[in-house]
Amino acid sequence: MFEPNAFRDLFPALAQPGAPLYLDNGASTQTASPVLDAMDQYYRQYRANVHRGSHPWATRATDALEASRDAVAALIGAPRREAVIFTSGTTAAINLVAWGLIDHFGPGDLILVSAMEHHANLVPWQLLARRTGARIEPIPLDGKGALDMAAYDRLLAQKPKLVACCHVSNTLGLINPVVQICAKARAAGALSLIDGAQAVAHLKVDIRALGCDFYAFSGHKMFGPTGVGVLTGRLESLGELLPFMGGGEMIDRVSFDTVTFNALPHRLEAGTGPISEIIGLGAAAELLTGLDASAHEAALTQRLLAGLAKLPVQVLGNGPRVSLVSITVPGVHHSDLAHYLAGNNIAVRAGHHCTQPLHGLLGIAGSLRIALAPYNTAAEVDACLAALGDGIDLFLELP
Ligand code: PMP
Repeated sequence: MFEPNAFRDLFPALAQPGAPLYLDNGASTQTASPVLDAMDQYYRQYRANVHRGSHPWATRATDALEASRDAVAALIGAPRREAVIFTSGTTAAINLVAWGLIDHFGPGDLILVSAMEHHANLVPWQLLARRTGARIEPIPLDGKGALDMAAYDRLLAQKPKLVACCHVSNTLGLINPVVQICAKARAAGALSLIDGAQAVAHLKVDIRALGCDFYAFSGHKMFGPTGVGVLTGRLESLGELLPFMGGGEMIDRVSFDTVTFNALPHRLEAGTGPISEIIGLGAAAELLTGLDASAHEAALTQRLLAGLAKLPVQVLGNGPRVSLVSITVPGVHHSDLAHYLAGNNIAVRAGHHCTQPLHGLLGIAGSLRIALAPYNTAAEVDACLAALGDGIDLFLELP
């Protein structure tokens, strides 16, 4: 049973006097105490490098890091612990794939990218296209503001080599039909990469059930630390990636002339990683594995949408969603509203949210994003709605 108050108590930043009403969870969530404790313990008690020492601190650090791999594998249903590759975040994970597939692409090869992608799941493919001569086509939105699955079917007939799509849009909050997207990609002979940055904190993710080749997410959006994230997916697909970085840990044997590579996951984890953050991520994964806040989040989202329906605003996107909602307000600039809310100690986000092409398609320069987490309360949603209403009135009345 989810206990909202007990969960909120795990976040010391929120209990500070004068703490903002924090609704910017799509950009980054707050850090949970078990995460802070795990990182603090590493630095205070057994800081050492991993995998290459036999002394007690090296062994303890290695065990803690590898336990995090198990915790993350359990959270997202990874086929094997070796399929969990630690990166510095979603961006690094997607770039790792885009670089690692360089030999897979040639002139004219097609990459499909949904129209609602974060720049992190578009620009790496553009860079790959520049290097290889491949081309990119967007999967458009339908008239209702969701992904156009009929258009996707038509694009698949062109035999793309890869399909890249977010599990949850960081701007629309919509949950994409990723099982269907990956199955269709596979049937058409394409690899699939799912950007799970906005999904892992809200949905029970099972990557085997999703059927994707690659799945990427970030620690800082799931109550964990910054600077750490995960690339995971099918073991065979991960094993085909050309290592992006060479260095320590990723090799098997090295001479002056040749190199052979280590097995997964080390093959894709060159150099010393963010050890304390990886250990912290393990604590976040354990926290999320035991959490089912879906009913609480759904109730908060309904409350938010019902309140927004009474204001002169437009909600972006239409379909099944997580607790993230972006709006535009005719006649009022999103940045003005965000500043007004910040003046009332309410943290939201205004701008293009790193989805410029999507905003271009929607014919808007930016939007205001309200992104909830399980530690938010109904009273906070009401306070945000009240301040939003006052702000809109103020700006609409200005000469
Ligand atoms: N994809 C999506 C959908 C995101 O929301 C974000 C973060 N805004 C990213 C990718 C990039 O994540 P990071 O900055 O942690 O690499």
